[in-house]
Amino acid sequence: MESRYAVVHYAEIGLKGHNRGFFERMLARRIEERLQDIGPAFVERLPGRFLVRLPRPVPEAIWVERLRTVFGIAYFAPAIPAPKDLTTLTEIVLRHLPSEPVPSFCIRASRADKSFPLTSQEIERHIGAAVQRQTGWRVDLSEPAWVAYIEIATNTALVYFARHRGPGGLPVGVSGRVGLLLSGGIDSPVAGYFMLKRGCEVIPIHFHSGPFGDWAASEARAMAIVRQMRPYGMPPWLYVVPIGEPQRAIVLAAPAPYRLILYRRLMVRVAEALTRQEGGLALVTGDSLGQVASQTLESLTAIEDAATMPILRPLIGLDKVEIIDRARAIGTYELSILPGEDCCQFLMPPRVITRPSVETVREIESRVRMEELVQQALAQAMRVPVSDSTPIPVMHPERPSSA
Ligand code: ATP
Ligand code: MG
Repeated sequence: MESRYAVVHYAEIGLKGHNRGFFERMLARRIEERLQDIGPAFVERLPGRFLVRLPRPVPEAIWVERLRTVFGIAYFAPAIPAPKDLTTLTEIVLRHLPSEPVPSFCIRASRADKSFPLTSQEIERHIGAAVQRQTGWRVDLSEPAWVAYIEIATNTALVYFARHRGPGGLPVGVSGRVGLLLSGGIDSPVAGYFMLKRGCEVIPIHFHSGPFGDWAASEARAMAIVRQMRPYGMPPWLYVVPIGEPQRAIVLAAPAPYRLILYRRLMVRVAEALTRQEGGLALVTGDSLGQVASQTLESLTAIEDAATMPILRPLIGLDKVEIIDRARAIGTYELSILPGEDCCQFLMPPRVITRPSVETVREIESRVRMEELVQQALAQAMRVPVSDSTPIPVMHPERPSSA
């Protein structure tokens, strides 16, 4: 169905008083942004739902493609606004009957306006009887093959025929800001997705080993991931921080098994500084417990020891397959498995300690001038814009993945 209008429902659980207005305004803004290029969209707040209006009709598939990525939406449907008049509503339903006979149908009515003279059930019976007279189709209230929905709002009624699931969650912006350590691997984009879903604005921060190794490939991949996640509410930019020089200083001073932990402690400090500067309150990583050597409780403790902000790890209890499924659905999986390393080979330690003690890590770290390395990295941090034309890197299977 082509439509200029869509009805949008959000999950209301937990929304009270002042909170509710804030939530609704943010959701309306996110919907408007998501429709900007085919808009301007106008979002009207009806009791418990929105009516979204575009300047011209668009196919149902466009509504679905757009609104299924706006967090805070429970479900939505392209809709037909109509006067609150039973005869007109009946006519609209009869005009939109499926062209082929269906085994069963039902009418589902709801009233946000309780002053409407008929109850929901009376509306359903009246329109249902008219459909039955015209088609002879059987009414099935539990598993109908076709449904017409009627909503009676304050100034208008709405008719629609297919409900689409939204992504749930909270509108981006109601939960504050977080800095995301975005590696370009499979996990951290998914971690960012979950934070966006809980209403956080995400500040993506990518570290690479520049000026060493193929840092440009690493940066291009991180940019492509941010671009791919724009529909979910990622900003049109990311921080890119070359840390090859500080990493080399760590290689010279620290035993190999401890290097990775020290790199991570460096990243945490730099990411905190950038996050704080952007008004953020926490860091987010793609750690999943036990997945690799640096994700044991001991390692996480040794890394977190360098942080003053909380480090959130939304994937901590997920299995790799669950993370991969989610990455596929978001569309970042294909980008994450492209060849290209964040860290060039000579900086990669041959062996990684799995159960470091915080005391030992601190002692080893004291052999480098960590604060200077942090400042050196911060001085090179760049906020790189990501546009809709940011290239998606292509894979060259014939070229061996460079180090
Ligand atoms: P990912 O798939 O996100 O790379 P991973 O399973 O490969 O995760 P690690 O490489 O140990 O795990 O990294 C753990 C987390 O540390 C990542 O999820 C990410 O949040 C952060 N991280 C690691 N490397 C980088 C990097 N180069 N830039 C930004 N963040 C990083
Ligand atoms: Mg990784």
